[in-house]
Amino acid sequence: MEGNLVIVGSGLAGYSLLREFRRFDAHTPVTVLTADDGAAYSKGDLVAGLARDRRPSDLVIATAEQLAFRYQARIQPFTRVMRIDRGNRTLEAPGGAVPWQRLVLATGAQAAVPRLRGTGTNRVLSVASLSDYAYLKAELAGRRRVALLGGSRWGCELADALVRNGYEVHLFEAQGRLFSGALPGLCSARLARTLERGGIHVHLDSGVQRVDREVGGLKVFPYSGDPILVDLVLATQGTEPRADLAREAGLAVGRGIQVDGRMTSSDPDVFAVGECAEMQGRVINLPEDIEASSKYLAAILCGRPARWPGQPRVEALNLPDCPLVLCAPPKVPGEWQERADRDGVRATFTDDRGRLRGFAILGAAVSERDRLLAEVEAKR
Ligand SMILES: Cc1cc2nc3c(=O)[nH]c(=O)nc-3n(C[C@H](O)[C@H](O)[C@H](O)COP(=O)(O)OP(=O)(O)OC[C@H]3O[C@@H](n4cnc5c(N)ncnc54)[C@H](O)[C@@H]3O)c2cc1C
Repeated sequence: MEGNLVIVGSGLAGYSLLREFRRFDAHTPVTVLTADDGAAYSKGDLVAGLARDRRPSDLVIATAEQLAFRYQARIQPFTRVMRIDRGNRTLEAPGGAVPWQRLVLATGAQAAVPRLRGTGTNRVLSVASLSDYAYLKAELAGRRRVALLGGSRWGCELADALVRNGYEVHLFEAQGRLFSGALPGLCSARLARTLERGGIHVHLDSGVQRVDREVGGLKVFPYSGDPILVDLVLATQGTEPRADLAREAGLAVGRGIQVDGRMTSSDPDVFAVGECAEMQGRVINLPEDIEASSKYLAAILCGRPARWPGQPRVEALNLPDCPLVLCAPPKVPGEWQERADRDGVRATFTDDRGRLRGFAILGAAVSERDRLLAEVEAKR
């Protein structure tokens, strides 16, 4: 036995790691410290939950007590870790120091909020957790007009869910292209058109510079165009890994906590997994990648043979009227080529050696997903 394991965070990454670790090792003491109530839920269900008007408790898959019993772990909810003491191998937390021999940081990410001026900036909301969801649902009751700041995948899905529930929705995207600038031009334009046909006011190339409190709501000032009066403003432009604990402890941090090919930070006994972690310049933020890398890390921690699951990053947009799949290419020189017809758009990214490295398909073209994915995998 290599000593106790402490996991900070009870999101998809923290609990996937716990589950996979227990498959290999039934005995090593494991403690999970988490700032929230420790309930397991899927963030993907937050948007679907809004669309179907589900209560926060409906989205809970298992409580902290149930998981502690199932995985024979000590789970400490409402315990926000304040500091990592690497010298003494302890965590500073309410209730006293917690010793660790191996530490896994699974602290996730928070919503990135654009830099704004104005008297209403502290009223900008985000939905990054189940408690945010509960708060947002209460705030939406009796309101009608919502502004979303950012055309990320979650922003597009949220806009669609809100408009289907009768809200007037304005979606602002400063980068000119949806999916936080990741979609190629024709795909982004077709998606924007579909959202507009559904009743969403899409403001492309139009970031928001200021939010002011007004009688009757919040006034949103875009960089171009007239101000708009709404009831609620939500930040949906993307995420920022929560890496402060690691940074303050002197670990290497870029956008996220930097880990090597064995998910190890710059301290050999500290690991990071999930949306707080960055490997080879990329944050691990897609649910499938988080689950696969948690499995990989569990094998490493248990001394089992492990192969890095490194798979192409595939995101699907779950809109009934506009199926879309993006397989984002790595950051290599190359170019997008797009072909559009009445039924859909097909875009492929080829590197400068002529190899297919990514694609975006929309509408009828999504039927090509498996074939294109197989080609990307074969050319890696
Ligand atoms: C604003 C936002 C919206 C998103 N929307 C979606 C969506 O609609 N669909 C989707 O599939 N994915 C969505 N994602 C991505 C999603 O977060 C990831 O796919 C995945 O759920 C991240 O899992 P995680 O375990 O890394 O982080 P999280 O699920 O965020 O878990 C982090 C955990 O760390 C704990 N924690 C943080 N700091 C501390 C501390 N100091 N001490 C103790 N505990 C701490 C938190 O309490 C939490 O338990 C969204 C992400 C964000 C930020």
